[in-house]
Amino acid sequence: MSNFRLNNLAVFLVQWLTFPLFIVATVYAMYSVQFYDLSPVAMQTTMFVSAIAIVELVELWLPHKGKSRRNNHSDGPLNFTSFVVLMAVVDPVLKILSPLILSILVVLFGLPQGFTLFPDDWHFIVQLVLAALVAELGQYWMHRLGHVTWLWRFHALHHSSSRMNWLTGFRVHPFNMVYHHFAGIFILMLIGINETVLFAYLALSGVINIFQHANVRFKHGVLNYVFSTNELHRWHHSTQPREANTNYGSLLILWDLVFGSYYNKRHQSPANLGLFSGTNYPVNSYWRQLIAPLFWKN
Ligand SMILES: [Zn+2]
Repeated sequence: MSNFRLNNLAVFLVQWLTFPLFIVATVYAMYSVQFYDLSPVAMQTTMFVSAIAIVELVELWLPHKGKSRRNNHSDGPLNFTSFVVLMAVVDPVLKILSPLILSILVVLFGLPQGFTLFPDDWHFIVQLVLAALVAELGQYWMHRLGHVTWLWRFHALHHSSSRMNWLTGFRVHPFNMVYHHFAGIFILMLIGINETVLFAYLALSGVINIFQHANVRFKHGVLNYVFSTNELHRWHHSTQPREANTNYGSLLILWDLVFGSYYNKRHQSPANLGLFSGTNYPVNSYWRQLIAPLFWKN
């Protein structure tokens, strides 16, 4: 086989198989922790770091429309600052705060020890799907409200870059991350999801967030009707409101299909990414974007 054909075959396989294989690997890895007495946190972190490493490499090799992250752009430092703030401050605070609020609610409502509404005797995969459906429903509506109410003042930070790459997934206002958490993950904790399934959901949503923002020419085919893929999510970052006020799903795309906000044009992508035109949002300063909700009139 000639080098040209081999290269084309490699591109084809990477475009079509990287995402589904990584999803399967993540689910299997999180499922197997219970049999090998492994730490779900350690496995979740391993999958998270591996996803970043793989997507970073593929972004360098197969950037969407040939637009490499390193060409003429300066939002890297802003994205990285946001990534550090979310991972080093907001995430640990939420991990401490959530169980605390949960125990206060249990005492306030006098719930019995081990109270659960979650069917923890069902198969792991069924529980994981159920967890995703529950968490995604709350997060879908908070994301949708984030586009059409005052919450846009916070959510605009996520849309304020004119390009996408895996780091864009972490370009999120801390308050945006807080209300997203309480609309989804906290609800799962409230209804008594077991730890293994919760960490599997966290691992899967973390991995999909990275793939979803990847500046890569991935092909998803029928998976565009199951997951919130980067082919779909690119429309969500369009500068055209008609295209951007769609595809709100974080992990799944089901609720967009159900509530009529699904959007895709096969083999096409938005002309421009970023905020809608005519805005005076402080796009280049992370710290000004943090306080923008106080003064910005959108
Ligand atoms: Zn959005």
